[in-house]
Amino acid sequence: MSLSSSPYILYSDGKGNIFEDTSLYAVGRAGWDAFPVEAEDWIPLPDGGNLYELPGRQGIGIDVVTGEMRLCEKGWAVAAFIPPAHTGLFLAAYETAPDAPTLPLFCYTAAGWHDGNFYVPAVRIENDIRQECAGYDQDKIEAGTGFLLKNYPNNRLVKHLMENCCMTYTCPAARNFAMGRWECPVPSSPACNANCIGCISFQPEEETIVSTQDRLTFKPTVEEIVEFTVPHLLNAPYPIISFGQGCEGEPLLMWETIRDSIIEIRKHTGAGSININTNGSKPDAVKALCEAGLNSIRVSTNSARKEIYTRYYRPNNYQFEDIIESLKVVRSYGGWASINYFVFPGMTDTVEEYEALRKLIIDTDLSMIQWRNFNIDPDWYLGQIGVTETGEMLGVKQLQELIREEFPNLKFGYFNPPMERIKGNYEADFAH
Ligand code: SF4
Repeated sequence: MSLSSSPYILYSDGKGNIFEDTSLYAVGRAGWDAFPVEAEDWIPLPDGGNLYELPGRQGIGIDVVTGEMRLCEKGWAVAAFIPPAHTGLFLAAYETAPDAPTLPLFCYTAAGWHDGNFYVPAVRIENDIRQECAGYDQDKIEAGTGFLLKNYPNNRLVKHLMENCCMTYTCPAARNFAMGRWECPVPSSPACNANCIGCISFQPEEETIVSTQDRLTFKPTVEEIVEFTVPHLLNAPYPIISFGQGCEGEPLLMWETIRDSIIEIRKHTGAGSININTNGSKPDAVKALCEAGLNSIRVSTNSARKEIYTRYYRPNNYQFEDIIESLKVVRSYGGWASINYFVFPGMTDTVEEYEALRKLIIDTDLSMIQWRNFNIDPDWYLGQIGVTETGEMLGVKQLQELIREEFPNLKFGYFNPPMERIKGNYEADFAH
């Protein structure tokens, strides 16, 4: 349902109270610039979304009378954190004061108010409901946590997943594991061979922002991994086990342990999908995992351009070409290969990035793009990678349409698909 007019801008009083300013229509940001947003691009803020007040920042809007763009003088700017399965089309537009604090590692999508509702410029990109907040039953989660801790008393990984990930960080994947369903997280690496500016598991002391979770502190054994993953693959609906989680470094640095785990797991069951979320830095290790039985890979990247990638990932002893090679390796074994594509309006939808993305899809025979919202302070990100000019933009929506048109077999989504989807009717209703 598209709006009759743009929503009004939001502002906060700096005390957590949010108001609409009916003298200004909300706009969106891409790169360093503010743009009007088509009425049809606004959707109601989906369930599970949040609103943030942005200290030291003033919102930009369009004056409802003059049509001029100007600042909202009434308070701080407001942005939305849109829930998983949705991709933001525009960032929140604001002017940042010189002494404004760097924003924490969340996504900052534009937001507005219309007819009693909050609105955001976004699209639902995935119909799988595995991380719908309405689907989480706290009683079942706590019962499941108790059951797993009781049944795996000596398993450090189950202890980490239940006490830290599930009950402290409220990680959606760990909560699904506690509920005995879908994708089960298997973190394994305390170290990483990249130095991402917006790393969510490690931020250097000198940085003012903190990582959203702490990095794993131990190396799990094959026995610890196999002990809980086999029952999950055997019993969970649409089962997936996924190495590579937000609470660890790079899983490929633990490839021997993962290889031996996969071999051991597959001795017990052929059920489900064994996936690895990774920075893709070690194609030889990926080959060994495919030999062992890995089914799918998801390689994270902020860009399909080597230059932009390298400025963000700051890789140790690997390079952009290695991540491309890792995708190719999995496809050469008939596996499923996705990119975890950090969407940043004004960078992701530039003509240069579009051409690089087309090349990546063709070179790797890519299976899927997971259009993820980039959880980072926009000014900080562009500043850190030294981008002052972003170049000609297509718009995120148009970029998706162009890619979908040229690559009809390439899947769009937000989550790693279960084997039932990879092998079955992919478009079937997965609102399971
Ligand atoms: S690859 Fe992952 S763990 Fe490593 S620095 Fe980047 S975000 Fe952090």
